[in-house]
Amino acid sequence: MISTTVIEQLKQVETPLYYYDLPLLRATVSAAQTAADAFGYHIHYAVKANNNPRILHEISTLGLGADCVSGLEIELAIAQGFQAKSIVFAGVGKTEKEIRLALRQGILAFNVESLEELRVIAILAKEMKIRASVALRINPNIDANTHHYITTGLDENKFGIMMHELEDCLALINSSERALTLVGLHFHIGSQITDWNVFKQLCLKVNAWNNWFIERGIEVPILNVGGGVGINYQDPDGESIVNFSDFFGLFHRFLEPKPGQHIHFELGRSLVANCGSLISRVLYVKRGVKKNFAILDAGMTELMRPVLYQAYHHIQCLTPNRPTARENYEVVGPICESSDCFGKQVELPLLSRGDLIAIRSAGAYGEVMASRYNLRQPLQFYFQE
Ligand SMILES: *Cc1c(COP(=O)(O)O)cnc(C)c1O
Repeated sequence: MISTTVIEQLKQVETPLYYYDLPLLRATVSAAQTAADAFGYHIHYAVKANNNPRILHEISTLGLGADCVSGLEIELAIAQGFQAKSIVFAGVGKTEKEIRLALRQGILAFNVESLEELRVIAILAKEMKIRASVALRINPNIDANTHHYITTGLDENKFGIMMHELEDCLALINSSERALTLVGLHFHIGSQITDWNVFKQLCLKVNAWNNWFIERGIEVPILNVGGGVGINYQDPDGESIVNFSDFFGLFHRFLEPKPGQHIHFELGRSLVANCGSLISRVLYVKRGVKKNFAILDAGMTELMRPVLYQAYHHIQCLTPNRPTARENYEVVGPICESSDCFGKQVELPLLSRGDLIAIRSAGAYGEVMASRYNLRQPLQFYFQE
């Protein structure tokens, strides 16, 4: 909920801007932490969902680890208070420079995605005389039932070690005792997963893989099951925080770690999505032949998800005391592309130029995907303390 006091303040400031509700962020992260603690689970925040320094600082203060996908994410996470030894590094395309940086910083684990990457890590680790802790990313071939752009756990996806390379990876780890230590198995099957049966399937696959390794005499200390928890974009006020107890409870029920094995998660969206809104003003209302357009001062350059993933975001008018009459609008941005649209047939109170609009649940994969296309203004921010 965006309070009337906040709305009064937003009226005074330039738009578009990202509004972040820090109390809601803290409540969300604490809820996740408490639920994870009940089972002794560890959470790493997936920095790519939102790397705003204020947000990172809040999350590191609450004691989470970080899941990074670039060298600069690792550096920023450390600068904002995350411990290097609780950082994991994923991604199919780690550069030598990034691998060296991660080795120097002494991160918890490289989540390795190919045999060739493992070879490069071994060479650099030897050269630097620093042992690299590695987890093997296994692609469990599970359909996450989500948008195909954010499905990552199928055989046809680029992620994870190809099965025919796995034996060679193990042989390389065995023969590189002074350079590589195998610390875990890593899985991540996609994002915005709302069908939790998918997570049950994941647990069963993780159990099977864990047993496969144990049969070969390898018991890894860490099972990292990734992230992907979906949030409720339809009703951000009704369900502002995911039911983390149910989520972790499901893993507790179906996952069968061996004694002493630690379970790690990498949550991004579910921790930050609902604490952010993109605030915008109506520039013009255009009455078209078949429909009405509400033209905002925010566009795909500030929030790309609707264009990239055909994603739904709840759109609301913040201006108080609007007439009760409502109308459907195609809510669009100013960018010179027809794709630049936040929603079709959005029912809103009769709009006028200057009305304040909130596009909700924009805290994840929003700000981080912004671009300067059309030479847009740098982003502005408003933090609710
Ligand atoms: C993006 C990503 C995550 C986070 O996914 P969410 O859906 O935001 O929770 C976790 N792990 C890896 C490897 C990722 O690429």
